Amino acid sequence: MKLYNTMTRKKEEFQPLEEGKVKMYVCGPTVYNFIHIGNARPMIIFDTVRRYFEYKGYEVNFVSNFTDVDDKIIKKANEEGISAEELSQHYIEECKKDMAGMNVKPATTHPLATQEIGGMIEMIAQLIEKGYAYEKNGTVYFRTRKFTPYGKLSHKNLDDLRSGGRSLLVSGEDEKEDPLDFVLWKPKKEGEPSWPSPWSDGRPGWHIECSEMSRKYLGEQIDIHAGGEDLIFPHHENEIAQSEAVNGKEFARYWMHNGFLNIDNRKMAKSLGNFRTVREIGEQYDLQVLRFFMLSAHYRSPLNFSAELMQAAKNGLERICTAAANLKYLMGNTKAEEMTEAEEESFAQSEQYVKEFEAAMEDDFNTADAVSAIFELVKFANTNSSTENSKAYLKALLERIVKLSDVLGLIVEPKEELLAEDIEALITERQAARKAKNFARADEIRNGLLEKGIILEDTREGVKWRRA
Ligand code: AMP
Ligand code: ZN
Repeated sequence: MKLYNTMTRKKEEFQPLEEGKVKMYVCGPTVYNFIHIGNARPMIIFDTVRRYFEYKGYEVNFVSNFTDVDDKIIKKANEEGISAEELSQHYIEECKKDMAGMNVKPATTHPLATQEIGGMIEMIAQLIEKGYAYEKNGTVYFRTRKFTPYGKLSHKNLDDLRSGGRSLLVSGEDEKEDPLDFVLWKPKKEGEPSWPSPWSDGRPGWHIECSEMSRKYLGEQIDIHAGGEDLIFPHHENEIAQSEAVNGKEFARYWMHNGFLNIDNRKMAKSLGNFRTVREIGEQYDLQVLRFFMLSAHYRSPLNFSAELMQAAKNGLERICTAAANLKYLMGNTKAEEMTEAEEESFAQSEQYVKEFEAAMEDDFNTADAVSAIFELVKFANTNSSTENSKAYLKALLERIVKLSDVLGLIVEPKEELLAEDIEALITERQAARKAKNFARADEIRNGLLEKGIILEDTREGVKWRRA
């Protein structure tokens, strides 16, 4: 399997640190609003990467954080007259709903920055001890020049940064030893959430979050670190400096970055008024269509969002769903059970599309070609199935389409509606679990029902349910 490594600017053969395992960290969103469709791109892309590794039999430890303390969060919370914690909690819940709608699997761990402050303080203290950081008036800075490989990911040269990057130099933090130094810890301002530290009551800088959470949940070295291409510099460059200075080891083996999503060929920005949230898109389309749209381009290419492309995505997805529904229909209307020899041969023939699919995914996750392979399989199924075929053959073809689609996170089988009596039985089981204080099981039932679109409401007259 080959993947493009931003660090070496080459496609490289994937070699896991530990046989059969993948340790993967994806920088998550800053939660002060509903996520926008730009944020959805890395979620869908790296969820697909994860699904492909799982399909290949790897055990994937997938960590993705929520940045729940930050200037923008504090500003919005103050505007709304609520605490930063209330605001971020709210948008984390909303983000999880959008993720579920896009069929993005929950991470193995979704750490919150505010829950990891102790570890960050410890890491900063280690950096000071090793001479990589220093404190001035309650602020702690990273001593960038001391980390000599600095710039290796973004392929920037320290001296160019100094002479070229005016915006980098005009920081207003004139107590720094060097304009290239960046903040690890900053003292609080009036009305800001803060935590005690050896240097001041304050909060961590953004970059240290990921270095600490990655180390805590995945270890000092990981296989893949990922995010949008805007994060290459300075965020990922700074993460590397911090992690490698503390741990004395290469931080991540492979760096993967998705290209940007534009809208109607323009940059998506609040100021341009062309900012679209996943929630808004979900009112217009099934979010599966958004997922299909994202996968129709290579993840490293810029992608333009437009009504026409969404329509094309809708049609493409429908083609697969229709073929799946058709196979299901045929299965219910055929008499033959067992596969004939001719059918076995025909089914074996369809294996070539699986090979094409895998070859596309093995070539730096070329999802556009992987989708084409599914289309070919669909075409094959459409022309090679009828009520004359056996149930076993039709089922095998259907499973093949469903399995490949599932690697891309696309749900193509018609959802089976839960019967009222099954729902009632699960509600009764949930009540019993709660009575027995088995809250884990009770939650599992509630969430399982939610996934199938059944919402439970605890009322005074008992538990009521409705379809979403
Ligand atoms: P943020 O909340 O801005 O930190 O972004 C969370 C993730 O979304 C990061 O990986 C960003 O690189 C990514 N991202 C933000 N905007 C876009 C966009 N327009 N296109 C693609 N990825 C984006
Ligand atoms: Zn990060």
